[in-house]
Amino acid sequence: MTQSTFPEMAILPDPSLQGLLARRARAAWILVFAAALLAIAVATHWPNVRVGDPTRPPDKIIHFIAFGGLTALLWQVGWFKSRIAVAAAGFAIAIADELTQSLGIEGRQASVEDVIAGALGIVVVVLGLWAFAPVGGVAAMLRQQRRRVAEQFIFSRLGPWLSLVAAAGFGVVVMLPASILIDSRFPRPNPLQAALVGAVLGTLLSSLMMLEALVRRTLQATATQHRCTACGSDALAKADCTRCGAAVQSHLFIEWPEVGGSTFLRLAARPVLLGVGIVVSVTVVVLSLGALRLTFPLAGQVDALIHGRAYGMTSVLDLTLVGVAAACAVRSFRARSAARADAASERCIACAFDLSQTPVSDDSFVGNDASGAAHRCQVGRCGECGASFVRIASGQGTR
Ligand SMILES: [Zn+2]
Ligand SMILES: [Zn+2]
Repeated sequence: MTQSTFPEMAILPDPSLQGLLARRARAAWILVFAAALLAIAVATHWPNVRVGDPTRPPDKIIHFIAFGGLTALLWQVGWFKSRIAVAAAGFAIAIADELTQSLGIEGRQASVEDVIAGALGIVVVVLGLWAFAPVGGVAAMLRQQRRRVAEQFIFSRLGPWLSLVAAAGFGVVVMLPASILIDSRFPRPNPLQAALVGAVLGTLLSSLMMLEALVRRTLQATATQHRCTACGSDALAKADCTRCGAAVQSHLFIEWPEVGGSTFLRLAARPVLLGVGIVVSVTVVVLSLGALRLTFPLAGQVDALIHGRAYGMTSVLDLTLVGVAAACAVRSFRARSAARADAASERCIACAFDLSQTPVSDDSFVGNDASGAAHRCQVGRCGECGASFVRIASGQGTR
């Protein structure tokens, strides 16, 4: 097989961003984003809204959730390719929303602290996007691309969306009362704020779990029955889809092995420690600021800055800290898993068998690493357990 098999394909277009499926998935996300934007605009401009206890309003946490969530949806729509750009757009919406509240609507005024709370929500979401961004070399990227294709199959159809909504509803029903119950054990309970946090956590956790289940089902189904990554049709001829004519990307449907339980724990241990370490060390610093304020005036000033904010800001700062720590832990775990996947042509990912001498198939394809550089890849199978691995053809990498 020579290099000429891959003409002018230095950088492959992301297969999950082309074709009918991508257009449908994007339309679905635009719909969700528009609905959320409308809901937030109405809720923040309705005259004289008083939510909850007026001395301890939950509006900071509402801004944190609303503008963070809106930015996440905006990213899913796909208009912005850079995380900085989508953060700037989210921030612009938050400021516009706050400024228009000062245009003489009764019982409403603009507040800098509302904007800060919204901005912190956006920061957490953008760190989350970074945590889940493509990472690693060719083998790791192939696995991630395949996953994105599976997500495209899911988001382009109504059935899976209904499953996701049902899962989110279930999560709210479970987590909302649980959150209020936990909050009621604390000295100054705020049921409304607890309900909001519980509802959001419930929605996130259970819809992400449902998405994971749907992705796994799709990956299983497409491993045996390949489908067109552009239109979803299974009517595939040798090289092209007979329905839309797109090139068949069968290398995306390689059934990758998963790491074993003990390897998973080894990969996850350090990221979990990292996340917990971030939360603990920041908490220790903040607590010691309070203790040090009698001796050091500067510590007292920083402490006053953190604790002297409007009601609800402390909860927003707590959530931000947890979000930052979780994003760092997820990113670290994904980088470690990617490194493991990239080393799979030397050591089997499933059974740790030495594969450095194992031959690969003659067929090859072009794969990209996270930087976009293209490499000629060949697939092989572990002689011990039969799991697939991908090897970069030596010296044939093209840029
Ligand atoms: Zn097609
Ligand atoms: Zn093996």
